[in-house]
Formats: sequence, C-alpha cells, structure tokens
Amino acid sequence: MASEINSKNVVVLGTGGTIAGTAATAADHTGYTAAQLGVQQLLGAVPGLQDALQGHTLVCEQVAQLDSKDMDHATWQALAVRCAHWLAQPDVRGIVITHGTDTLEETTWFLQTVLAPAKPVVLTCAMRPATALVPDGPQNLLDALTVVRDPLARGVLAVCAGSIHGAREVRKVHPYRLDAFSSGEAGPLGWVEQGQVRWAGRRAPGESAHPNATRALAGAVANWPWVAVLHSHAGADARQVQSLVSAGVKGIVLAGTGNGTVHKALLAALLEAQAKGVTVRLITRCAQGQIVGQPAALQAAPAGLNPYKARISLMLDLLD
Ligand code: ASP
Repeated sequence: MASEINSKNVVVLGTGGTIAGTAATAADHTGYTAAQLGVQQLLGAVPGLQDALQGHTLVCEQVAQLDSKDMDHATWQALAVRCAHWLAQPDVRGIVITHGTDTLEETTWFLQTVLAPAKPVVLTCAMRPATALVPDGPQNLLDALTVVRDPLARGVLAVCAGSIHGAREVRKVHPYRLDAFSSGEAGPLGWVEQGQVRWAGRRAPGESAHPNATRALAGAVANWPWVAVLHSHAGADARQVQSLVSAGVKGIVLAGTGNGTVHKALLAALLEAQAKGVTVRLITRCAQGQIVGQPAALQAAPAGLNPYKARISLMLDLLD
C-alpha cells in the first residue's frame, strides 16, 4: 500500500473529445472538430504543470483519438487493457484519461466495472475546444492530476469543473455549460479547490469487478452480446421491440416512465421478447432516484445506474 502512495509516475491516456478539439475561431464553442490534438499537446497547454506535479513524473499514451459520441466497444476494451497494464506497475500512482463528455459516464462505468481498481483512474474532459478564448480543458486536466495524486483517491472517478464524481452516479446533465456533470441526489464525492482536494464526508465503498470482467478484456468484442436501450413514452410502439428481437438482440434495457411504469403496448412486446429468450431489465428514465419496489412484470436493473450504464452491466451479465 505504501509503495502505491509513494509511486511517482502518473499515466495520462488520451482518447480525444472536445478537450482535444479545435475550432476555426476562438469564439466558436460549438462548431469545432473534436479529437484533433494529442495528449502531449494537451499537457503542454497546462500552465505551471511541472510545479503542480510536485515531483511526480508523467507518462503519456494516445490510446484513441475520437469524438466520444462515436465510442465503441473495441476502444473500451483497448482502453481497459492499457489501464490494467499501467495499474499493475508498482511505480504507477494512477491514471488520468482525457475523454469526450458525451459518453464519459459510460466509459467511467465500464472501466469501473471491468477493472474495479484500487488505484485511482480519473477521467476528465472539456466542454469547450482547446482553441476557445477561455478553454476549460487545461484546468480540468490540472484538477484531474491533483485528484489522481491524492492519497484518498481510488477507483474510477470523473473530474469536471472542480467537482469529483463517482462512476455509478456521474452523468452529463447539460449540453453546453462548463459544469456539465452531476451526481444527482448523491452529490459529488468531493471538489478540487486551488490545487487541493476536499472530499465530501461520504466515501462510497469500492465497487467490485464484474464476474465477467476478464472475459470482457480478453475476448473479441464482436462476441459481446447486443444489448439495446429503449424508452417508454407516450405513443410508444411495440414494433421497436419486435424489430430488435427479429434482428437478434440479446438484451433490452427499458427506461420506463416514473417508478418503472411501461406503456402497455411496449410491455406486451417486452414480455413476448422475454419468452423468446431476450433478457429485459427495467430502469427509470427519471434523471434522479431509482425504482422503488417492484412495479412491473419486468426485472429491475441494478440500483443507481442510468439506462446507458445499465446497458453495460447487462451486456457483461450476458457475456459467455
Ligand atoms: N462530442 C464531444 C465528445 O464527446 C463532446 C465533448 O467532448 O464535450 O467527444
């Protein structure tokens, strides 16, 4: 344990995103191209980085270069394998990952559930491209480097706009503002203030690795089962379920209304899908809270996940 805390290397893995994005003008916050700059360039844009590192050494690696709206299972697997490699090195304190904001919450949950690392893995991002008049990426990266070196940091975390979020709770809640992430009712795990971490009193117990984690890291991603997310809503149509079933879907996460209520047209089709061997899990589409009790004839997804994280967990459940 002591050797981990004294470890001097921090690994920074680049994957792209707006933090690495560029626009034609400094005023443009939306018409940019994500994933243009390498991780080394991102670090080069952080003023006072060497002083802030206080003797820690950075090791950089570009694992991917994509807009995270296009995140795919192969990139997840490659990223998890590189994380596992670096986390196993005794001289590595932890990992920072630069990532797009759109699917950051999904990657955070995927890495937590397949790695369940004792050391910290901190994802960070930006809402403005690197070319903006006042970009948020350099501060977020600096904050992530502060968190990863903190003795109390562990597991997969997300850092954005001065807040530290846990893998289970974090979700993107705003398409434009800099403080785009929230942990909902749970609140953030802590904050980064003037280069110091202030943890909230609550430190959740570490999440354990999924029983199929090793298989997810080793096997071909083409064999990962197809799991889709559907939403219940006014005017819902059973044909979306029937089309998925005939196309070979293995699992469906249904984001139900309210306390897990499901439109009657969808419910009938989902029960039929279940009878044909498709695994169906129910979750609420509400931004906060979780299903209380057992309101429908469908099994609930694990508590506290949003539909997209529940999709990841069901996909790992179905992996064989
Ligand atoms: N579309 C971008 C991405 O997710 C958005 C961002 O990073 O803010 O890569």
